[in-house]
Amino acid sequence: MTEPSALFRHCPRCGEPRSAGLQANPLVCRACGLVYYLNPTVSVGVILRDAAGRVLLICRGKPPGRGKLALPGGFIDFDETVEQALRREVREEVGLAVRRLRFLCSEVNQYAYCGVTYPVVDLFFVAAVSRSERAVAASAEVAGFRWYAPGEIPLGAVAFPSVRRALERYACDGRLRCRGR
Ligand SMILES: [Zn+2]
Repeated sequence: MTEPSALFRHCPRCGEPRSAGLQANPLVCRACGLVYYLNPTVSVGVILRDAAGRVLLICRGKPPGRGKLALPGGFIDFDETVEQALRREVREEVGLAVRRLRFLCSEVNQYAYCGVTYPVVDLFFVAAVSRSERAVAASAEVAGFRWYAPGEIPLGAVAFPSVRRALERYACDGRLRCRGR
């Protein structure tokens, strides 16, 4: 797997070879003066609770982590807020609408895809859903889903360490589990 900065062997503006002066991050080109910052990709994940306090985990339908468990969520699009992305991803992946959205925590993650390892910052939220029975695996990215009581979540089957840490934090914070039912 390759870090994103290693993909840039030449200045993306003037084509100057990197070995001749293109610094790693930011990419600084001595030939044309380009200064280009490589930043973490922003991702959102949400702990969805039903009326009984159970948590929805999806089974990932695509790599990385195909067949493992994860939270609904995904990457933020251009010109989109984190909250908008969260609502869009939940609608696209499991067909549900969220309410009472609360920030939980952020975690550092890495996302290996097509030979590149992207640095990611995951933003985790907690939200309630009504009509949880209407959940459907609505995307090819979702092979299935299940509602788990907080103590029953199989953390060893979760795809990303960042998601595991967020679920552990949620399980330890009784205020978050009890509020907003
Ligand atoms: Zn240049």
